[in-house]
Amino acid sequence: MHEQINILVKLQDLDLSIGKVEETKENYPRRIELLKEKLEEKRRIADLNREKLESLENDRRKKERVMEQEMEKIRKSEEKLLSVKTNKEYQAALKEIVLTKESNSQREEDVLNVLEELDILRKELKEKEEDFMATSREFDKEESELTAKLEEFKNQLAEKVKKRGELSSKIGPELLQTYENIKKHRQEIAVVPTRNGFCQGCYMDIPPQLSNEVQKGMDLIFCPNCNRILYWENSS
Ligand SMILES: [Zn+2]
Repeated sequence: MHEQINILVKLQDLDLSIGKVEETKENYPRRIELLKEKLEEKRRIADLNREKLESLENDRRKKERVMEQEMEKIRKSEEKLLSVKTNKEYQAALKEIVLTKESNSQREEDVLNVLEELDILRKELKEKEEDFMATSREFDKEESELTAKLEEFKNQLAEKVKKRGELSSKIGPELLQTYENIKKHRQEIAVVPTRNGFCQGCYMDIPPQLSNEVQKGMDLIFCPNCNRILYWENSS
């Protein structure tokens, strides 16, 4: 029994480390996914800034076109001014010129404001694009690191699983089944040492008689409280 329990303890260590590797391995794709989401968010922000900039550029071009048309109107009105016959006609044409010039100077001011806004937007866009590029480089680097680690974990896992097969073949099928059952119901821990008369699985005291049996290591002894397989720590 002694030797069998020794192997069980080793098997349990191996199972625990397999569990850890599996857990880490499962976390990695999620980490890559989170990084990707962060990157996509930055791309979206840069795209929004770019759209805003393009729409304002269109606005500016429209305003400038109207200004040019109005300038043309002024030029024609000024030509007309040379050929009017009456003073009344002259006054009317002059008034029209003045009004058009006034509204055009308002437009000019508008365009200047838009140009200022465009400057700010361009700077913002540049920052957002640089931010996206930096995150993108960071993502590429982390993704390849995580992928390499994932590969390493897969290899580690394969090796451990192979070793587990070797170990479990050295344990009797009945004992192995008992081990698996306890493990399932006792948070992955099926074999525990006794220390100073206490079970190290549930920390309840073990009756001295039973403790002696554990120390002898002749039979399979279970903790009366948590039902785990007990072993004498010094004997392992
Ligand atoms: Zn116990």
